[in-house]
Amino acid sequence: MIQLYIPLNFLGTLYREIKQSMADLSRMFSLMDKEREVADAPGAQPLQLHGQPDVCFDNVYFAYEPARAILRGLSFRIPAGKTVAVVGASGAGKSTLARLLYRFYDVQGGHISIAGQDIRQVTQDSVRKAIGIVPQDTVLFNDTVAYNIAYGRAGATQAQVEAAAKAARIHDFIMSTPQGYATKVGERGLKLSGGEKQRVAIARTLLKNPPIMIFDEATSALDSETERAIQQELASAAAGKTTLVIAHRLSTVVDAHEILVMDAGQIIERGTHAALLGQGGRYAEMWALQQSSDA
Ligand code: ADP
Ligand code: MG
Repeated sequence: MIQLYIPLNFLGTLYREIKQSMADLSRMFSLMDKEREVADAPGAQPLQLHGQPDVCFDNVYFAYEPARAILRGLSFRIPAGKTVAVVGASGAGKSTLARLLYRFYDVQGGHISIAGQDIRQVTQDSVRKAIGIVPQDTVLFNDTVAYNIAYGRAGATQAQVEAAAKAARIHDFIMSTPQGYATKVGERGLKLSGGEKQRVAIARTLLKNPPIMIFDEATSALDSETERAIQQELASAAAGKTTLVIAHRLSTVVDAHEILVMDAGQIIERGTHAALLGQGGRYAEMWALQQSSDA
């Protein structure tokens, strides 16, 4: 009896292990399906960067589903080292711009280029190495918080990881968790709030320090005091970088080289903060509304 019991117990453990592996495997395949939406062109070479690159959207068309166009002929340029900001109502297509630049999807008309190279013609990996993205909804890896921050910068030291976490105002929180930087996070670890995940993604981007940055409502889940503190870190990290900022709070776009106001997949107004205010259109209206609600 006893002899039988032990192997059966072991089989039970083995069974659970296998079941978990199958679950991991099926999750991996569903992630790979997503990845398969874009593929490297045959013989694609890495992106060539000589100095700070510019980013160009040239007459870009895109639809997630054939029947519903999301971006309808969009053009703008982020000059090397400058910041272009995108504002507009939710559903306008702002996050779609970020996803296309990071090449989660390919454009269906027009092109997106970095330093004059169409991002469909170079390796996806080299494009993603050149870009740091703080997405609107961050999904963390099922790994330690240290791994999640260091991801994207191979060989980062613990001191560098901690410096980035401090700048992103997440270090104290991490130190308060059971195992500090070794604490597992993600679906099968410690569940973080939206704001905590956002700060991990900000720390990751600050540490990666890439030539191109995308902030997609990067501080939307933070309280206003933390947001103000982090905004300063982001502004100094973005100085001299080619940056796309999607903003929910207009005070963060005042200094942008150009502001694009989007509505239903098109740019309806564009210009500097001062020019747009002077124009008295949608942007001026949004600005007035936010000023009165902040007061
Ligand atoms: P914004 O960031 O300006 O709020 P998005 O770029 O996220 O807008 O979305 C633009 C439009 O595309 C929305 O109508 C949204 O419902 C739709 N959309 C976004 N992601 C998908 C998707 N994966 N599949 C189908 N439609 C999508
Ligand atoms: Mg969005």
